[in-house]
Amino acid sequence: MASNHASLQVGGFVPFTTVDYPGHLAAVVFCQGCVWRCRYCHNPHLQPFDGGRWSWENILALLAERKNFLEAVVFSGGEPTAQACLPWAMRAVRDLGFKIGLHTAGIFPEFLAGVLPLVDWVGLDVKAPFDERYDRITRKKDSFDASAESLRLLLASGVSYELRTTVHPELLSPVDLAAISLSLESLGATPTNIQPFRPEGCADSGLVAADRAVGASKQPHPAL
Ligand code: SF4
Repeated sequence: MASNHASLQVGGFVPFTTVDYPGHLAAVVFCQGCVWRCRYCHNPHLQPFDGGRWSWENILALLAERKNFLEAVVFSGGEPTAQACLPWAMRAVRDLGFKIGLHTAGIFPEFLAGVLPLVDWVGLDVKAPFDERYDRITRKKDSFDASAESLRLLLASGVSYELRTTVHPELLSPVDLAAISLSLESLGATPTNIQPFRPEGCADSGLVAADRAVGASKQPHPAL
């Protein structure tokens, strides 16, 4: 965990989007810092906790200017739940009249449980079946435990959500995707939304080269 209530570390800001919160016009705050190192991460510049490039006070001022045009603000990352000040930041945004969206990989389930009452919609990553295959993507031991617990907490909360799975054929096979589907079904969750690997920004040259070689980002995954 990093930072305190004084200042959310923000690495990027998108003032207007129609695709990051379903059915809503939203702004996106990209929180700085993440403790996982997913091979396909396309925002590796957001991984270090280096303070970020944006002042939180300026972000709030920009949002205040847009409160008649936007419906929601999405906290994305990086990993928003890695910052202890996230609840304060969410309350400040709610006080401006916005709905709150959260993009998370479910890295900190206990912390997630604490902020869910402040959140109107969650986009949760399901990166792999909930076993050691998870760790191959995140490069963090036992990361599947946190992710599975976050999903359970999200489902119990009743908060609206969407599950997302990024697919690169070198990281997830058709068998893996079938295992994810079975797990989600057994938990009573909605099916996950498949997102093709995006080479833009990815620092893993092996994945990018494989994607270029087979056109993986342009061809449907064989399991789809
Ligand atoms: S959890 Fe998200 S931000 Fe963190 S390394 Fe993985 S893809 Fe990147």
